[in-house]
Amino acid sequence: MINKLIVGLLPYLPKKFVWIFSMRYIAGKELKDALNVTRKLNNQRIKATMDLLGEFQTRAENIQYYKNEYIRLIEESEKAGLDNSFSVKPTMFGLLIDQEMCYHYIREIVARASAFNRFVRIDMEDTQCTDMEINLYKRLLDEFPHHVGLVLQAYLKRTLDDLKDLIAFDKGRGLINIRICKGIYNEPAEMAFKDREEINQNFLIDLEYMLRNNVYAAIATHDKRLVKGAYRLIDACHAPADRFEFQMLFGVTPELRQSIVDKGYTMRVYVPYGKDWFNYCTRRLKENPRMAFHIIKALFVRG
Ligand SMILES: Cc1cc2nc3c(=O)[nH]c(=O)nc-3n(C[C@H](O)[C@H](O)[C@H](O)COP(=O)(O)OP(=O)(O)OC[C@H]3O[C@@H](n4cnc5c(N)ncnc54)[C@H](O)[C@@H]3O)c2cc1C
Repeated sequence: MINKLIVGLLPYLPKKFVWIFSMRYIAGKELKDALNVTRKLNNQRIKATMDLLGEFQTRAENIQYYKNEYIRLIEESEKAGLDNSFSVKPTMFGLLIDQEMCYHYIREIVARASAFNRFVRIDMEDTQCTDMEINLYKRLLDEFPHHVGLVLQAYLKRTLDDLKDLIAFDKGRGLINIRICKGIYNEPAEMAFKDREEINQNFLIDLEYMLRNNVYAAIATHDKRLVKGAYRLIDACHAPADRFEFQMLFGVTPELRQSIVDKGYTMRVYVPYGKDWFNYCTRRLKENPRMAFHIIKALFVRG
């Protein structure tokens, strides 16, 4: 109840106030902020995946801006010699209004990244996008087999079938590269597990399937139990170190993150930035009011 109340109030609070607690989770408003945060992470033996904030776009001039900004981001990352990849949300490029247009914009970004031997991952959005984003991934994989990946969500009941479909598509080449995460959107019970235990069980089932079927696994979680479960599976499946990595969001559970780095595992942090930070924060909160708790906590506990 309290979480929902806070979320309802957010749009009426001064942006400056909301920024105070959002800045823990966002690199900043400018490209240089993402570069600075990434440099600091790299100095701590942590890789990054940079994400330009903005989603569900419908206006052509905005979409063009975002594409240009990604290209600039790729070029500046290269110039600065940073160890990072990129994450993109297809609805930023008009997925919901014109799939073909979206494909061409994202293709241009992946082509630029692959020219520098850099990797782009397609984030997974809500279930109206799932099929379209899987198809987009398959299409790009054909042209850029080593430079594109996808995200799947363990809360979706279909995810194991999607993995099987992608593995069949791959025909044993070992090119499939998936970030597995719980999933952040509020989906109906017919499509998604709602119980936390069930989501966790499914996460580990999906991860085991990936490790046993030569899918590169990006294990994206801050849940200690899932991290422990992942350690067990990595050992049980004798997963080679170059076939998986851990991923976390910027500003979240830095101690757990460090403990994974100290074990010698690869860690990549998701670094969001951009002028659309306010909409991003408020939308995420509306989708998942439990997050309000983390934000309130962040106001008082600095880590
Ligand atoms: C690198 C990365 C990329 C992602 N990409 C996608 C995507 O493409 N599509 C998608 O649907 N979802 C994505 N997610 C979000 C993901 O689906 C989960 O909603 C999110 O990671 C929380 O799940 P959890 O496994 O950390 O477990 P939880 O049980 O939610 O969290 C475990 C603990 O971590 C801490 N915690 C978790 N999140 C936060 C936070 N934001 N702020 C403060 N503390 C927090 C809390 O202490 C919590 O108790 C991504 C997550 C990561 C890490």
